[in-house]
Amino acid sequence: MMTNRVGIGYDVHPLVEGRRLFLGGVEFQHPKGLDGHSDADVLIHAIADALLGAIGGGDIGHHFPNTDERWRGVPSTVFLREIRRHLDEKSAIIENIDASVIAEAPKIVRRIPEMKAAMAEALSIAPDRINLKATTNERLGFIGRAEGIAAMAVASVSWPTASPEPTAATAD
Ligand code: MG
Repeated sequence: MMTNRVGIGYDVHPLVEGRRLFLGGVEFQHPKGLDGHSDADVLIHAIADALLGAIGGGDIGHHFPNTDERWRGVPSTVFLREIRRHLDEKSAIIENIDASVIAEAPKIVRRIPEMKAAMAEALSIAPDRINLKATTNERLGFIGRAEGIAAMAVASVSWPTASPEPTAATAD
């Protein structure tokens, strides 16, 4: 028996001058970068939350608090490697990840294979388990004014079920 669960993730970071821009573990040449405690890779953060959600593991802020100096300036792929350890504790398989980046700029589509490869490597999965999409916000709102970038993700995760799950009749 396998248990299959899904999780959702959403994140947003402001674009500021004087920061490098990382999305999906890949650096983009861009006049601004995302501000945050780590490298502020908004796409990885959304995916991390989706994976944690699927295993009932809380959220990224719980595991990697921005008050912890250990995580200052780290590449967010480190978070994916940590989450892989949590998945391994349950012998969990990542069925798939689907994610969207919402940004007016930069153009992301040509870098998607690189981004998939970087995140798949950190998660020890095949790149074809990850689907990435990019869209603009049609110039509307803070994303449309290029003040920030948002990302959303869902993840499906399965793990072996040790024993039959309690039913409503036997739970108590
Ligand atoms: Mg974040």
